[in-house]
Amino acid sequence: CGIFAYLNYNATRERRHIVEVLFNGLRRLEYRGYDSAGISLDADPCEASVTLSSGTVLPSPPPLVFRQEGKIENLVTTFYHDADVADLDLQKSFTSHAGIAHTRWATHGQPSPVNSHPQTSGEGNEFLVVHNGIITNHMVLKETLLKYGFHFESETDTEVIPKLAKFVYDSLNEELANNGGDKQVVPFTQVVMEVMRQLEGAYALIFKSPYYPNELVACKRGSPLLLGVKEVGDKRSDTYVESDLLAKDHGKPKEYYVASDANAIVEHTKRVLVIEDNEVVHMKDGAVYIFKFEFDKSRQLLRPASVQR
Ligand code: GLU
Repeated sequence: CGIFAYLNYNATRERRHIVEVLFNGLRRLEYRGYDSAGISLDADPCEASVTLSSGTVLPSPPPLVFRQEGKIENLVTTFYHDADVADLDLQKSFTSHAGIAHTRWATHGQPSPVNSHPQTSGEGNEFLVVHNGIITNHMVLKETLLKYGFHFESETDTEVIPKLAKFVYDSLNEELANNGGDKQVVPFTQVVMEVMRQLEGAYALIFKSPYYPNELVACKRGSPLLLGVKEVGDKRSDTYVESDLLAKDHGKPKEYYVASDANAIVEHTKRVLVIEDNEVVHMKDGAVYIFKFEFDKSRQLLRPASVQR
């Protein structure tokens, strides 16, 4: 029943620190009620690109996911146990890193590790999502995605979201390639906005993807969402301006916090922004861009572009 994210940009942090910031964020959201919890972290970036069994090539290794039912401390224990078993280097430093976290209050599907968030697009964790709320049209979306060859492993309403993101990402890239723009990459926000177009219900969401390392996109409609920034110089625009995404604001280290409640952020920074309904927040290259998303009901349910599976 709460979402949290921590992104350090140009601010070198050890994995142990990153994990503890995420766990502490979850502890601050505990009072909202929950039955399970989970986090996602970056794998070691020194590994080269990874080829999935589907033939898909990921530019960076699949993000790590840790999920557990019950108390947050169960997740903490699971994490440190699994990290030990997997020989995960907790002293490994990341110049930039994007982590997401979730406490779940089950609405669809019983509390279990597989129903916990982050929910994923499937093999390779190409898209990861933490969700607070309910997707009321998830059955319709699931039926459509099953026809496109997606396999579902959880009973949650949330799982359609990362799957939709993967579908949209493939469709938009195919469209770009057909138009001769194979060197371009679809912006993360465009993927998220196409996903939002399909969703009905209430949600606050944070998206993470190995296609967009060190970036996070968050959005909301009906569920609370706040952003905390530890540096000045952020932009807020009312419209989706493509060139904004290209603008660079490199330089000083920054840390971003996204949460369902301000009390998970204020221990880090007092610069807290309340995100409004239909706003899309993009954290990228040390800058944050906030777009207002206008719903266009006239658009068809899913893009017709064929996706090879
Ligand atoms: N509806 C989602 C689920 O049951 C999210 C619940 C929540 O807000 O924690 O998994």
